[in-house]
Amino acid sequence: MNKLLQTDLLELDSLLEKVKKQGVDYLHTIDDRSTSSNENIPDVLALNTKGIGARETLQLFNERFEPILVSSGGPRFWGYVIGGSTPASIMGDWLATIYDQNPQAINGQGDISANIELETIKLILDLFELPESFVGGFVTGATMSNFTCLAVARQWIGKTYGKDFAKEGITEKINILTASPHSSAIKSLALLGIGSNTIIKVKTIEGNREAIAIDDLEAQIKKLNGQPFILISSAGTVNSVDFDNFTAIKSLKEKYNFWWHTDAAFGGFAACSNTYKHFLKDWDYSDSITLDCHKWLNVPYESAVFLVKEEHKLLQTESFQNSNAPYLGDPLENFNYFNFLPENSRRLKALPAWFSLRAYGKEGYATIVENSIDLAMYFGSKIEKSADFKLLVPVRLNNIVFNLKSNQNQDKIDTFLTQLNATGKVFMTPTFYNNEKGIRASFVNWRTTKKDVDLVFDEINRIISLI
Ligand SMILES: *Cc1c(COP(=O)(O)O)cnc(C)c1O
Repeated sequence: MNKLLQTDLLELDSLLEKVKKQGVDYLHTIDDRSTSSNENIPDVLALNTKGIGARETLQLFNERFEPILVSSGGPRFWGYVIGGSTPASIMGDWLATIYDQNPQAINGQGDISANIELETIKLILDLFELPESFVGGFVTGATMSNFTCLAVARQWIGKTYGKDFAKEGITEKINILTASPHSSAIKSLALLGIGSNTIIKVKTIEGNREAIAIDDLEAQIKKLNGQPFILISSAGTVNSVDFDNFTAIKSLKEKYNFWWHTDAAFGGFAACSNTYKHFLKDWDYSDSITLDCHKWLNVPYESAVFLVKEEHKLLQTESFQNSNAPYLGDPLENFNYFNFLPENSRRLKALPAWFSLRAYGKEGYATIVENSIDLAMYFGSKIEKSADFKLLVPVRLNNIVFNLKSNQNQDKIDTFLTQLNATGKVFMTPTFYNNEKGIRASFVNWRTTKKDVDLVFDEINRIISLI
């Protein structure tokens, strides 16, 4: 054994203790850490021939990289849609690393940690009040979840033509209908060889909405003259957090032949709250659903879930099994994840989610979700009443899109955002809404409090008075 490895093994206790202490210090001071980097990016160093051992490597990391890390898991990182990590999820994440399992099969003599993943999927279905007719698993993010679900949809389309696209490639046109898809769904279509230009854009409901207009959807369906298609619907668009009318889509599904995919990456979490679950009524009739866990479930990256109706298990296996041989029998007997998703070897990604779901339960998640929404509404009402800012869309759930009020100031918005983010006290991202530039603030972190909102509101007023 290499000498340095030998020493590190002997000192494992004190090495991990050091990391734990550093981690706890970081997490205890995350409120005060900057939300933006000072851009002092260190030069790239070549690999050393002789190692320096774990202790010195930690020191090197602390000198070179630790200072450029921003508090992206902190209470005022409101850019994109970013969660944090609950204490229990960090425990699960550490243990996923330590036990270093490779969850695939649920029985047999080797690694059967896939059972933990299956149980976690059961907890997810319970949390979202979804039926057990979904088969699910963990992938790295909602992008990969959209990809996984749309891959099965692609295979379904092939079957309607009597073709096996997984084997033969795509030989027929795949019609995609959607109104306000997330950019990652478009990326998935590109990856799947369906092509992103082939989308048939359905109108949205009039009057500052991003939800699909059901009458136009039906008109577009009729134009297809009975050809099969994939509908990508939204449970929470990224700007205005709008929801398609799932009850109406359910009725269309009784009349027409299509695959219904719902991207519920973060909007699906409304189902955790009795107050907001009405947004998701009948979403469970979807053929497939995307949920992001590293957003509102507040577990570390990389964690998202795909859910595909069990009735499609053969299509899913045809899409993902390693050999291209015809699948004999029931893929759920001797279930193996590597026949159900893109990756083969994987981390036990489910463990952080399992820890957090068990630790905080339905009530804990209802509180996280409702607290985020309350704070978004609170911030939204402050913006609405302010002299300098305006909302671009009424607050529906947990995201705010706002702009500067006076029209002649529109060009100032970039300067304003750059200066605001440079304070390091809050981070927000630029966006476009209704062809207007805007700023988005997203509330998804369990740590955020009213105090944070007040602090940020003072800060935006201070910055606007300077420019
Ligand atoms: C964030 C998001 C995605 C992509 O998620 P990643 O985890 O970044 O891959 C997809 N759809 C929606 C609606 C999202 O908000």
